Amino acid sequence: MLQTSSTFKQNADAAMANAGLQRALARAKPQFAKKRQAAVDKLPEFETLRDEAAAIKNHAIAHLDFYLETYAANVEASGGKVHWCATAEDARQAVLKICRDAGAKTVTKGKSMVTEEIALNDFLEANGITPVETDLGEYILQLRHEPPSHIIGPAFHLNREDWEQTFRLSHTDLPADRVFHERRDILTEARTKMREKFLAADVGITGANFLIAETGTSVIVTNEGNGDLTQTLPRVHVVVTSIEKVVPTIDDTLSLLRVLARSATGQDMSVYTTFSTGARRAGDPDGPAEYHVVLLDNGRSGMVGTDFQDMLRCIRCAACMNHCPVYGAVGGHAYGATYPGPMGAVLTPMLVGVENAGQLPNASTFCGKCESVCPVKIPLPNLMRHWREREFERHLTPPAMRYGLGFWAFFAKRPALYRLATRAAAFSLGLLGRKQGAFTSLPLAGGWTGSRNFPAPEGDTFFAKYAKRQRQKQ
Ligand code: SF4
Repeated sequence: MLQTSSTFKQNADAAMANAGLQRALARAKPQFAKKRQAAVDKLPEFETLRDEAAAIKNHAIAHLDFYLETYAANVEASGGKVHWCATAEDARQAVLKICRDAGAKTVTKGKSMVTEEIALNDFLEANGITPVETDLGEYILQLRHEPPSHIIGPAFHLNREDWEQTFRLSHTDLPADRVFHERRDILTEARTKMREKFLAADVGITGANFLIAETGTSVIVTNEGNGDLTQTLPRVHVVVTSIEKVVPTIDDTLSLLRVLARSATGQDMSVYTTFSTGARRAGDPDGPAEYHVVLLDNGRSGMVGTDFQDMLRCIRCAACMNHCPVYGAVGGHAYGATYPGPMGAVLTPMLVGVENAGQLPNASTFCGKCESVCPVKIPLPNLMRHWREREFERHLTPPAMRYGLGFWAFFAKRPALYRLATRAAAFSLGLLGRKQGAFTSLPLAGGWTGSRNFPAPEGDTFFAKYAKRQRQKQ
C-alpha cells in the first residue's frame, strides 16, 4: 500500500472529520473488546495460557534457524517446495514464477497480510495475472481499490451502505430491486460471484497463521471457509508467509490457537482451522497437485537479538488495535502503513526504516491497554519508546519537540528547580486563567488548544499537594 505514515497527523485529522468512518468505528470497536472479555472470563487459565504462548514463541525465535530448517526439510519431505525470500521483491518474483509455470491466468487468494506487505495484487495484475480476494472483507476492498484497515477485519471502516453502493457500482448485472438489509444479503451477493472464481482459478494463495516445524505443516484460521476452497480447488497451492510464524510442534500450535481466537474475535475457536501438509497424495480425496511455501524475511531476521525481538512473537490477533484509543479514534488507514495500530507502530519502522515510518511510534497515548491484552505479552509501549529514542537520536523528531524535551530535561534533572518552576507556572497560569477557567490558546501548546481548551490550574501542583498530604499523615 501507499506509505503515508509521515502524514499521520493530517491523516488522523481527516479520519476524525469523516462521519461515515466515525460511525463504523463506534459500531465495530466495542464489539471486539466486549467479546474478548467474555471469552477470557469463561477461561480461568487464560493468564497461564498467555505465559505459555509467550514462552512457546520465545523458544521458537531463540532457535529460529533450527526450526526453519526443520520446517523446510519436512515440507520437502512431504512433496512441497520452500522458496526462501530475503526481500519483498524476491517473494513477488517467486510467486510470479510459480504462477507462470502453472500457466495461471487467475489466482484466488485467502486473507494474507504478508501479501499486502509485499503488494502482491498490484504486481500480479501488472504481469497479466488476475488476483481475486475471497475473504468477504478483502473482496469488497478489492472492488473499492482500498487497502485493509484492520488485520483481521479488513473492511472494519465500512458501513452497510458502503457495501451496497460498491456492489451496485461493480456488479453490473445486479438487479435494481435487490435489497441489502441484512448481512446475509451481502454474503449471498458476494458468494454468487466468488463461486465462479473459485472454480476458474489455476492457483490458490493463502497466508499462514502458524508453520509447524515437526511436520512441515501450514495452518490457517478463517471464519468463512474461503481459505479451504482457495487451497483445495486449484491445481497449485501457494502459502505466502513470513519466517516468524514457525513453531516447533503441533501441541505448541494448539496452545497458541487457544489464545488466538479468544483474543481476536472472542470465539473459543475460529470456525475453520485448516492444517495443510504437502501436496495431494494417492488416496487423498482432494488437495492441490503442487504445494509451495514462499517464506519471507523482509527485515525480520534483523530483529533477532535487538530491542525489537519481542515483536516477533506477534500472532496477528489484532487485540492491541481493538483496544487502542488512538486506533479507535482514527481507524486503520490513518496509519498509512500495511500494519496499523500499536503492533504496526512497532513493526512498520522495522520493515520500512524508522526514517520512513513517520510519526507511527508517537501514535500512542501509552495507556498500556495494548500490552495488557496481547496474548503473547509483547511490551508494545516499551518497544514504541525504543523507536522514539531512535527517532530522537537520529534527529527525526521535529525541532520544537527536541528543544521542548531539552528544556524539560534541564529542569527534570534538578528536582528543586523543577518544583519551583512548576509551582510558579501553575500559579501564573491559574492567575491568568482565573476569569475564563480555561485557555483557548497557549504558546507551545497549539497541539492541545487546536482542538480543545486547556483548563487553568486551580490550585497547587501535584508535588506540593502530595508533600502536604504526607505531612498531614505524620
Ligand atoms: S501485538 Fe499482540 S495483541 Fe497485537 S496483534 Fe500481535 S499478538 Fe495480537
